[in-house]
Amino acid sequence: MDSTVNFGLTAEQKEIQLLAREFARREIAPHAEHYDKTHEYPWPIVKKAQEMGFTCQNIPVEYGGMGLSLLEEIIVGEELAWGCSGMSTAIAVNGLAILPILIAGSEAQKKEYCGRMADGQMASYCATEPEAGSDVAGIKTTARKEGSHYILNGSKTFITGATVANFYTVFAYTDPDTRYNGMSCFIVDRDWDGVSVGKPFDKMGQHASDTAEVVFDNVKVPATHLLGKEGDGFLIAMKVFDRSRPGTAAGSVGVAQRALDECVRYAKERSTWGQPLYKHQVIGHMIADMAIEVEAARLLVWKCAWAYDAGVSNTTLAAYAKAFAADTAMKITTNAVQVFGGYGYMAEYPVEKLMRDAKIFQIYEGTSQIQRNIIVRELFRKG
Ligand SMILES: Cc1cc2nc3c(=O)[nH]c(=O)nc-3n(C[C@H](O)[C@H](O)[C@H](O)COP(=O)(O)OP(=O)(O)OC[C@H]3O[C@@H](n4cnc5c(N)ncnc54)[C@H](O)[C@@H]3O)c2cc1C
Repeated sequence: MDSTVNFGLTAEQKEIQLLAREFARREIAPHAEHYDKTHEYPWPIVKKAQEMGFTCQNIPVEYGGMGLSLLEEIIVGEELAWGCSGMSTAIAVNGLAILPILIAGSEAQKKEYCGRMADGQMASYCATEPEAGSDVAGIKTTARKEGSHYILNGSKTFITGATVANFYTVFAYTDPDTRYNGMSCFIVDRDWDGVSVGKPFDKMGQHASDTAEVVFDNVKVPATHLLGKEGDGFLIAMKVFDRSRPGTAAGSVGVAQRALDECVRYAKERSTWGQPLYKHQVIGHMIADMAIEVEAARLLVWKCAWAYDAGVSNTTLAAYAKAFAADTAMKITTNAVQVFGGYGYMAEYPVEKLMRDAKIFQIYEGTSQIQRNIIVRELFRKG
């Protein structure tokens, strides 16, 4: 029996990590404060990310993408989020939006929409509605078949990247009377009649990533834009989570690592009672706990990505990784503010932004409570 466990990266993976690390330090981090303060969409950075291929990480090479494995994608994701998780979310949203097409799309659909993304287009993933977030099956959007088209009606909210997207992957009921089995997924172009996008919401954190409402009012969607078959939608949404949740968890690790790095730097520079902060045992131990928790979160995320790449079911591992990494990022960034004292509460110091940015990781892509529901379901499945 082969019981080898390898926590090392290949030379190629190290190269990708270095590329992302340098990009985060050179192109993202120096501009993080600007986009946090202005709430502007970071087009110049996103354009550079496009040139590097970072907006097409999971698209296979034959369709113009980087063709990264999930492990490689989460390595990049952690590095970019270290620079600014608002910008990394703005960059990574394409990877989420294209997943339904990669999972269920026909050859023609993949060729067209992956190709459009490789040419610089952006996209968003539209599942959440004003009355249905955690309860994905509770959506109200409908797609009624009329000849060679579907007529799409409904409102999606909290959609990342909505204001800059060129197309959307949209979940809607083709058979509203059947929960789960009546849901389908469509590709919808932004410039079709009846598609409208709201103004970006004013949020607590991740200001560089826009979040807005998208309304579909009698939109005529060609039947060729259905992904898979009618009724495949719910399964597609669940398969998306297996690949997207580890990516979100990696973002949490990036933010937590950044908070740890800022604390190590600050606790050496700042002195009280004649000695650097870290020499006060209570502060030193707080920072030691951060280091332990960042490493534990990273290992969980890596394992979950490894399982996915190995073709092993990772749904429960993804729930572990998403919940643990998000809760860890929230705890570490909150403690980082404490390590900085009054300065930590000031916007001109970096940890205040990190604490605001971290909160969303416990909410989007399934809240920390929903991840625990999944874990309970799996633990008690047999009895
Ligand atoms: C900044 C941002 C970006 C987002 N981007 C996108 C996007 O690009 N695309 C998209 O489709 N969605 C997106 N979302 C939506 C996000 O996924 C949902 O907000 C999230 O899933 C929670 O849904 P909700 O807001 O409706 O909360 P609710 O489902 O109303 O939950 C409210 C609270 O109740 C808890 N709760 C609900 N049901 C249960 C239960 N059964 N057991 C235990 N606790 C429960 C939740 O954990 C939460 O604490 C985004 C949200 C935000 C804030």
